[in-house]
Amino acid sequence: MKPRKPIVIANWKLNGGLDLICTSVASFIGKHVDAQIAICPPYLYMRDMMTFLQFSELQIGSQNVSRYESGAYTGETSAQMLKQAGCSLCLIGHSERRAMFAENNEGCQIKVRTALNHGLLPVLCVGENQAEREANITEEVLYKQLSEGLANIELNGRDLCIAYEPVWAIGTGLAATPAIAQSVHQYIRAELARIFDADSAARVRILYGGSVNKTNARDLLLQEDIDGLLVGGASLDPGHFLAICEQA
Ligand code: PGA
Repeated sequence: MKPRKPIVIANWKLNGGLDLICTSVASFIGKHVDAQIAICPPYLYMRDMMTFLQFSELQIGSQNVSRYESGAYTGETSAQMLKQAGCSLCLIGHSERRAMFAENNEGCQIKVRTALNHGLLPVLCVGENQAEREANITEEVLYKQLSEGLANIELNGRDLCIAYEPVWAIGTGLAATPAIAQSVHQYIRAELARIFDADSAARVRILYGGSVNKTNARDLLLQEDIDGLLVGGASLDPGHFLAICEQA
């Protein structure tokens, strides 16, 4: 039994619709899952999903959150709005947002702070790309993402999750091996102890993401420092996602 409650998060990205919401929620009816499970649909569907979830323990997460609280910020959605809509958690700094929407560590830090202040569980995504792995600088990249993304954050007992998502593993079908993922997760936990303290680091859940499927989920979850999974493509198939969650 792991000391930390396992967590599995579905990241639907720009996919899904009402049909997928119905079938995904329905697939969990009558099933017992020990882990905390959240689905991050596109913003527009959160309210619809909420109505389906009234009698379910499934949670809703957001794929992003604004760094701003309110004001003239066209197209943004604040942490307070997400909380009011029934969201439990939010992804922050997913590699697609870093690569395609110019998100940086400083912005992630503001978002982590905002999420914590509004009672949303922040899931800060970090990970190296292929060139960085080949250049053997994975730890340097993570060091920067973690120390800048969490600078001056005080947890004061509040929950935080880190998602380690090597960019080379996202959507490629080439998941990190359990051994590679575990060694990176161990490094991340050591960095968290440096940034916060040993007790806090021991409480933070570190998820692995990148080509997770029902075949590789169990071995990843068996690793000491892998506390959960962030699932993209495979979460768009409700039966497949349930099979992953049942292993957590
Ligand atoms: P994938 O995506 O499971 O399709 O690799 C994971 C993610 O981007 O969060």
